[in-house]
Amino acid sequence: MIPNWLMQRAYLTPDKIALSFEEEKWTFAQLNDDAVVIARKLRANSLNEGERIALLGSSNSEMVVIIHACMLAGLEIVMLNSRLSKKEIAYQLDDSGANTVIVSNELSSVVADTPVRQLLFSTIKESAEQAFVIQESWQSDRTITIMYTSGTTGFPKGVRQTAGNHVSSALSSVLNLGLDEDDVWLCAMPLFHISGFSILVRSVLYGNEVQLHEKFDAVKSAKAVRDGSVTRMSVVSLTLDKVLRELEKDNSVAHSSFKSMLAGGGPVPIDYLKRAKVLEVPVLQTYGMTETSSQTATLAASDAMRKMGSAGKPLFFNQIKIKDTETPGEKGEVFIRGSHVTPGYIGRFSEVDPLENGWLPTGDIGYLDSEGYLYIVDRRSDLIISGGENIYPAEIENVLIAHPNIREVGVCGKEHSEWGSVPVAFVVVSGNVKEADLIAYCEERLARYKVPKSFRFVDELPRNGSNKLLRRKLKESVDLE
Ligand code: AMP
Ligand code: MG
Ligand code: MG
Repeated sequence: MIPNWLMQRAYLTPDKIALSFEEEKWTFAQLNDDAVVIARKLRANSLNEGERIALLGSSNSEMVVIIHACMLAGLEIVMLNSRLSKKEIAYQLDDSGANTVIVSNELSSVVADTPVRQLLFSTIKESAEQAFVIQESWQSDRTITIMYTSGTTGFPKGVRQTAGNHVSSALSSVLNLGLDEDDVWLCAMPLFHISGFSILVRSVLYGNEVQLHEKFDAVKSAKAVRDGSVTRMSVVSLTLDKVLRELEKDNSVAHSSFKSMLAGGGPVPIDYLKRAKVLEVPVLQTYGMTETSSQTATLAASDAMRKMGSAGKPLFFNQIKIKDTETPGEKGEVFIRGSHVTPGYIGRFSEVDPLENGWLPTGDIGYLDSEGYLYIVDRRSDLIISGGENIYPAEIENVLIAHPNIREVGVCGKEHSEWGSVPVAFVVVSGNVKEADLIAYCEERLARYKVPKSFRFVDELPRNGSNKLLRRKLKESVDLE
């Protein structure tokens, strides 16, 4: 059994700050009080223990209260990604079988055409309260959240994340990162994604403050890092780059109380890690996914320079192996085991076992070095095979991102009559730079067969709700050429 997170936290440290959003702050007692009121209003709207609802809203304080209220009310929450199209959301509503979609007033039009019952934030607020007995403890296999993974091929899968998964993830994290009473975690990641949601979970388990930003804002984030109002922050490579750029503008460094940027969701270019070091911003690379309720491996700060580019060692409760390999350095599919791994999917994939002999196949290619540090090479599905040689798009992207005129880059394969497939690069550039310059730049740094055969100059790259590059979309556009 697991204690009801927020109730237990509000009992243990009622007066500690739980949340700050814009100019407002909530203690754990206040957050609990607010969430209890909303939970009673949810009950008044006939949402009962064990039912599944979907939730669509922005990452603001109102949303945090509603998330906690849903947990207090014993609901399973399908976290909808507000950046998806109506069609994608309609699919998730249908697949999940959610009986109601709880939606903020601003986003209500997104679900207006779906057959699912809609409950507006404003309607909940205006409802009467219906008192009920709030569960003081939860079964560890209780589903807390369901998040859909984009699924590089085919249909998105709704991943169950249980109370036990989230707790295991949060405990592993703190055993690795440590915790200071005064830690404040800047959350500028969407709450519908595990990177953001796990910050809320850690906050109630550890009793530390979350400084929530509704949207990532480079200026605001850099200010918080510089002035010491936060000690931790979660980033993806794109947002990391933007924060670093802000700090670089006036050559300022992170505040001495700032402890770490947890950088995940995808590879972090080595160039960014080097820039971060100059700015005294400790960056911890982490490897995780929706199916593991956040981090599986994280590089300790003390190893940041020695093991540059590694995602570290598995966290205490987790294990990692590289399928069908025996020697360090050999590349293969990454397999994960641990109590943070999802028990399975919902909807059309509910019968599919996510595990193979107890291990989660990740679809990622990686290797462990002789000391057991994990290096993620790339997504297996993005691998480009050119004349029999394996080309990992991430390696090419890593080279190009260090070019002073390149802001963003994405590489994918393009069918080729002679080689089977050849790499093509999409770039967002600043200033005047030509394809020939970029080819010459790559030729100095990469084997010939890895040099992109052509470049597409674009204004932006396709990204998902967590700002992750969608190479699949790049591929779709070159396939159409
Ligand atoms: P998601 O299921 O959307 O949370 O995405 C998880 C995927 O992001 C993983 O399977 C990896 O492909 C990728 N990913 C996460 N962390 C890293 C990392 N440190 N390096 C490379 N890829 C990563
Ligand atoms: Mg995935
Ligand atoms: Mg650059």
